[in-house]
Amino acid sequence: MDKVKAKKHLGQHFLKDESIAKDIADTLTLEEYNKVLEIGPGMGVLTKYLLEKDVETYVIEIDAESVEYLNAHYAKLHGKILSEDFLRYDISKTFGNEPFAIIGNFPYNISSQIVFRTLELREQIPEFSGMFQKEVAERICEKKGSKTYGILSVLVQAFYDAEYLFTVSEHVFNPPPKVKSGVLRLRRKENFHLPCSERLFFNVVKTAFNQRRKTLRNSLKTLNLPDNLREDSIFDLRPEQLSTEDFIELVKKIEANGV
Ligand code: SAH
Repeated sequence: MDKVKAKKHLGQHFLKDESIAKDIADTLTLEEYNKVLEIGPGMGVLTKYLLEKDVETYVIEIDAESVEYLNAHYAKLHGKILSEDFLRYDISKTFGNEPFAIIGNFPYNISSQIVFRTLELREQIPEFSGMFQKEVAERICEKKGSKTYGILSVLVQAFYDAEYLFTVSEHVFNPPPKVKSGVLRLRRKENFHLPCSERLFFNVVKTAFNQRRKTLRNSLKTLNLPDNLREDSIFDLRPEQLSTEDFIELVKKIEANGV
């Protein structure tokens, strides 16, 4: 089998530049875990640099043709190729409840879903790095006050320290995507359990950003907060004016009022 033919509906843009592939593989610090899961390996341009490292490498790939290619070309991956959809796969079948890192030159059509799934699995994922569409990578790492700051930024930064590492041009892919790419690294915070209800935190952040032009007093009406609480000046703000820590304080206030 020669080469995998790029399929648009699977977000396939294969990286051609070996030195960038190596740079991405090197973003993992390899602390706190000894297993890595690469999402969407394609023809393995990143995988081969992971296989050189002192870490056990698994890959998960939805495309049967890519899986066939990987089986034919990487003997070291034998038994560690999951021919599955990352978004639907029950990861405990492979990792139990052991920690593992995630890496990838990710399929951009499901970027946000990959990040949300990672957040669900955060107890097991001390580190996450790889490449997204540049805007998405920037948004995840963005701080309060910016237009692109949003749900992804707040939720990710509640649990992870997010670093935007470098930008990658569209010309190093086959076929080239329409947009530039950005590589980031997320390292789980030492204390990643929130001092408030995590369910309420997710709910408040999502509800507030769903109407991001409104003040919290208006956007959070559906939560039926007591009037005395709604007089607090924090409710004059719009969600993009609150840091992750501010959202946590807000949720603590809501909880203190018995909501
Ligand atoms: N890492 C390779 C390929 C990047 S393209 C490279 O850098 O060249 C994105 C890859 O993700 C494709 O191989 C695509 O088949 C795979 N993919 C798309 N959706 C997926 C999903 N839900 N689960 C696992 N892999 C997926």
